Amino acid sequence: MKTPYEILGVKKTASQDEIKKAYRKLAREYHPDRNPGDAAAEERFKEIQGAYDTLGDEEKRKAYDAGGNGFAGFGPGGFSGFNPADVNLGDFGDLLGGIFGGRRAPTQPRARPERGADLEVPIKLSFEDALHGIETKVAVEVDATCRTCHGSGAEPGTSPTLCPVCNGRGVLAESQGLFAISQPCPRCRGNGTVIETPCHSCHGSGVERRTRRYTVKIPAGVKTGTRIRLKGKGAPGEAGGPPGDLYVVTEVEPSKRFHRRGQDLVVDVPVTYPEAALGATVEVPTPEGGRVSLKVPAGAHDGKLLRIRGQGAPKLKGGGKSDLLARVKVAVPSKLTKKEREALEELQKTPHADPREELFD
Ligand SMILES: [Zn+2]
Ligand SMILES: [Zn+2]
Repeated sequence: MKTPYEILGVKKTASQDEIKKAYRKLAREYHPDRNPGDAAAEERFKEIQGAYDTLGDEEKRKAYDAGGNGFAGFGPGGFSGFNPADVNLGDFGDLLGGIFGGRRAPTQPRARPERGADLEVPIKLSFEDALHGIETKVAVEVDATCRTCHGSGAEPGTSPTLCPVCNGRGVLAESQGLFAISQPCPRCRGNGTVIETPCHSCHGSGVERRTRRYTVKIPAGVKTGTRIRLKGKGAPGEAGGPPGDLYVVTEVEPSKRFHRRGQDLVVDVPVTYPEAALGATVEVPTPEGGRVSLKVPAGAHDGKLLRIRGQGAPKLKGGGKSDLLARVKVAVPSKLTKKEREALEELQKTPHADPREELFD
């Protein structure tokens, strides 16, 4: 087994500065981002990190030189013979980070498969289309791997370089007595690498927006705010995770004639004063474009709602239709014929109850 000095290629008498230099040179050379898919380089990189973990820290180096288990670094009964490859940082990262100063290999946190985000796309519908249902297309912008840099974020021909602030560790350790608190490196945000020349297409993000178009079936009877789910059409998952869903959210243009009242539709039906007072049978339009007759009871006051069963909007879940509510509107003529005026004046003279009586009770 190689000593950490051998791994870094420095003499036992090397200064801290020389050790640091050797480490930085090697870490750059074997960095996983420079050697994508090269398992040997990755192992070597971990080995280098492990060696620097010991020698880069004067206390640990002293302990190692003194023949202690400084290089193993994990305390009595811990790992015998340090092999960084055995250290699964996904499992021990927090523990080690908390106790031993949080040195971890950058870019190697085990990526956990994550489900993509759900997306929403609004769609405007005419009142009629909402009533009858329609098949239509929606366009949605999703994040996709940048085609110029293939997701690295670096301009083609360049590559991300080791972060100079954290030396590629991705974390900065701050000593607090016995323990060290580790924090993500602010310069590289924990990546361990920085991009000096960002990709011109994605400005370094590694992702680009792409427009996708889907056909969506809007069922009959949707209202404003109805959400129609397109399974798996949301944002792509990460690290092999499943994609999210796409929700098409409807916005229904108001109708001049009908408006929603929960499940039901309301339509205003003007009636004359005699019709309201004496009762009448009137015709009411249906949302389908037909007409139904409605009996207005005698004495119907203005604003009275009369229910016409099964003539409203199609129900979204389960068949059938909601009800149509006819709202009585007592129409007051703005112009009167001579005959009408005489008749109304006659009516006025007829003894009748004062409608304002109870206002002054
Ligand atoms: Zn790019
Ligand atoms: Zn950094």
